Amino acid sequence: MFPPSLEREKRFDFCGCPSVKSREARGLVRTRDRLVAECLSMGARAHGGNPNKIHAGPLSPGCRLCAEGKWSCLFMGRFCRRGCFFCLQSQREKKAALREKPTGFRPRSAEEYREFVRRAGYRGVAFSGGEPLWFFDELIEYVTALRKGAGPRLAIWVYTSGDFMTERRLRELKSAGVDELRFNIAARNYSLTALSRAAKHFENVTVEIPAIPEDTTRLLALLPRLRSAGVKYLNLHQLTASAHNSDALARRGYRIHKNGEGYPAVGPVVESELAALRLLREGLASGPPLPIHYCSARYKELFQARAHRQRLAEYFTGETAALRRASKVTSAGYLRRRVPDDGRRTVPSKVCYLDFRSPADSGNEHGVFSRGRIVKEVPLKSAGERRLFEKFFLSAVADESVVGAILAENKKDSGVARFLRRFENLEYLPVSLDRYC
Ligand code: SF4
Repeated sequence: MFPPSLEREKRFDFCGCPSVKSREARGLVRTRDRLVAECLSMGARAHGGNPNKIHAGPLSPGCRLCAEGKWSCLFMGRFCRRGCFFCLQSQREKKAALREKPTGFRPRSAEEYREFVRRAGYRGVAFSGGEPLWFFDELIEYVTALRKGAGPRLAIWVYTSGDFMTERRLRELKSAGVDELRFNIAARNYSLTALSRAAKHFENVTVEIPAIPEDTTRLLALLPRLRSAGVKYLNLHQLTASAHNSDALARRGYRIHKNGEGYPAVGPVVESELAALRLLREGLASGPPLPIHYCSARYKELFQARAHRQRLAEYFTGETAALRRASKVTSAGYLRRRVPDDGRRTVPSKVCYLDFRSPADSGNEHGVFSRGRIVKEVPLKSAGERRLFEKFFLSAVADESVVGAILAENKKDSGVARFLRRFENLEYLPVSLDRYC
């Protein structure tokens, strides 16, 4: 299933982790490969043939939309009072601060967001936080606007710990148009109280939690009760490190992959992936009482993000035929502009980013230097769209030919060249993701 030795090690990113030595990494990769192979031989399926996302039983409709880049996730704000050790963010801000993921788009009104969802052609919308129910009035306002605009075809779901959930609020969520609730039961010591209450109102109740190695046995014992409580799907994620939670993860002795090839933004916890796969295997062995799905950090960072990029590339280039002709979307979903080779340039390829910004400007480690062209040419309809476009596409790393071209063009400017050499390690550049499948 996988190519041999070193390539394998790189593909699973165990190398490069400061706490996982190269020798250990090989053993961990073998363990992971074995677990994946066992799960597949017991009836699990790799989604789209991709072993980074495997499931026993069907995927939930929302997860299918997510894999296709057909959903938008709106973060209502950060506040939450659960204080999970694995939480990626600080939970103190009590004000609503709506932000769409992964673009960073901040809608100023429910109507603006509804229009964004419509024009981007999304078929699913999720609300997350913090705890979205803390921002209940805004939540209802946004759900109502979306449902009114899109009708029954749009899938709408809400992630919650179960806090602030009353019978009255459940009824309001239902009548506003929410289809599904996804519970993080790990946030409430695996209590099923809120979830059971919700199942009386909602047909679709899902459990979505990180795979916590210490809780594997407990979760396995809970599987039959989840089913009888009305849960339709169990989604497992890989624990990931952020600036906020990395100390707590380290205290538990987890080994974390530092930023590196394939993981631009997060540090995936090695032990969590193994725990998820063991859970899936044991669930299969006991005849799965409910569908279980493991979505790795690698899948989210590479494939889910690619699907989002591709969708938004269509969104931005679909405006005019001229724009479509002038644009190219790489197989990894990055938008390039075709530029004419007028004979004066030393560019070896006709495909190039048009805008290069400094890391200081963009606040993004993948930022490149600014020439300010593409933003002027793409018909962006609002300041929000412009920010979205800049953040999402212009911060993307260049591919091999583009890096070479830019280096050639800027060879006299050592500052530019020094910066761009960071991208010479092409293993890091997701030009195509085929090698990860
Ligand atoms: S319930 Fe969610 S938002 Fe709240 S602390 Fe836990 S992980 Fe963070």
